[in-house]
Amino acid sequence: LSALVLAASLASRVLAQEAEGATPEKLEFQSDVARLRKIVINSLYSHRDVFLRELISNANDAIEKLRLTALKDKSLVDPDKPLNITLKMVKDEEDESVQRKLIITDTGIGMAPEELKANLGTLAKSGTSEFLAKADGENAGNLIGQFGVGFYSSFLVASHVYVASRSLPTAENPNPVQHVFSSDAEEGSFEVYLDPRGNTLEHGTEITLILKKDAKEYAESATIQNLVEKHSAFSTTFPIFLFDRL
Ligand code: ADP
Ligand code: MG
Repeated sequence: LSALVLAASLASRVLAQEAEGATPEKLEFQSDVARLRKIVINSLYSHRDVFLRELISNANDAIEKLRLTALKDKSLVDPDKPLNITLKMVKDEEDESVQRKLIITDTGIGMAPEELKANLGTLAKSGTSEFLAKADGENAGNLIGQFGVGFYSSFLVASHVYVASRSLPTAENPNPVQHVFSSDAEEGSFEVYLDPRGNTLEHGTEITLILKKDAKEYAESATIQNLVEKHSAFSTTFPIFLFDRL
């Protein structure tokens, strides 16, 4: 499955500011998370391309979960809604001082605010503790083939990460409200708050990476297309669309 590059001028609203009005909830990362983030940021610099494969694989997993849920309960999901992953690059060729961004969106199962906290703020999965145990002694670069480094690999290229997400409606919660998880690469805490833009997602997740100054190339469609074709095209079930020149 190959990615399609589309030159588009979508008037999408980019999330690049903290909560307006809504009171953000500030939370500390679990200590293992802080440790993992440090190991990832410090030792995987020469493998930083892996972030894209990790985020696309999470997006694909989320859409797969949606598909399975929809098979069980047909009332939850509109069967005509497309299941896909979009990659959007935001940059200003004229003004280099404008922060470059890469936005990865999926129409998957999404996360409720409690899930944003639990899934992105703690190490819920078993593989990660094994990774941590080994990463102290060995070159972590050798371990990334064996263990997915996951979401925290975003911080290899991003100085700040925003995850906006909206979960699927359920009988108990028929109209889920979109929330944002916001985290700075330099800080040991993260925030969760109501998305000031409202419910821009039907269901699913939008990850905005504010690219580090030395990671500008990840806002270039040639770089992204090349990485997608190399690492994700054959392992991804759902279509991937690339939008350049926003
Ligand atoms: P893993 O994918 O191995 O579980 P990650 O660090 O990549 O570990 O992701 C942690 C968790 O965060 C996932 O298990 C999932 O519950 C949640 N998650 C991450 N990205 C998404 C997404 N795009 N949509 C829904 N949930 C996600
Ligand atoms: Mg993952």
